[in-house]
Amino acid sequence: MNLIILGPQGSGKGTQAKALSAYFGLYYHDMGAFLRNLAKANPKINQYLLSGNLIPDEMFADAIKILLRDQMAINKGIILDGFPRTFGQYQILIKWLEELGEKIDKVIYLQIADNEVQKRLSGRRICSKCGQIYNLVTSPKPQNPAVCDRCGGKLAQREDDKPQAIKKRLELFKKETMPILDLAEQKGILIKVDAMRPIDKITRDIIQKLKQ
Ligand code: AMP
Repeated sequence: MNLIILGPQGSGKGTQAKALSAYFGLYYHDMGAFLRNLAKANPKINQYLLSGNLIPDEMFADAIKILLRDQMAINKGIILDGFPRTFGQYQILIKWLEELGEKIDKVIYLQIADNEVQKRLSGRRICSKCGQIYNLVTSPKPQNPAVCDRCGGKLAQREDDKPQAIKKRLELFKKETMPILDLAEQKGILIKVDAMRPIDKITRDIIQKLKQ
């Protein structure tokens, strides 16, 4: 089973994707983490990341294509978080999958209000040493807002979680990503879920809908 999980930043895509990956034996692809890793050796990619703008497809397409092909061969499918993010990327992905005799089975849409996105993202902190993620307004909350519970590292705010970048990312979601949702709805493969509920309720809801 191949899934795409979509929703604005802060809608809980990563959390839900990890739970679904464990439940169904799917390879979880976190595009943001993948690109942040590429950015360590590529200052151009890093510039895009810091601004909250999308990175041009040609800077990562080959790497993703190979990774997905290899992971599909050894897992029961994939769950994609952060890719595709534009209608063009969706079409590229469908073409790659067709070449492998595969398809996207369902597109999961986590729905959340804009003001909730602002609240959740502005509270997000990441440990500069071990990468552990916390949230000062939701969970997991660190004991000390500036220090990592796990390794004692300093907690920082991602540059693209600052208000201007959040606004830009929300606009991009509406302009670039919403068309994928419209197409998935037309094809009858869209699963919509209310993402403003407790995490485990959302997970159960998605699993139930996927099994229908
Ligand atoms: P995320 O952690 O998913 O919020 O992604 C962080 C940043 O990575 C985004 O603001 C973009 O700059 C970049 N990014 C993530 N996914 C994509 C994608 N599919 N295409 C282009 N850029 C992306």
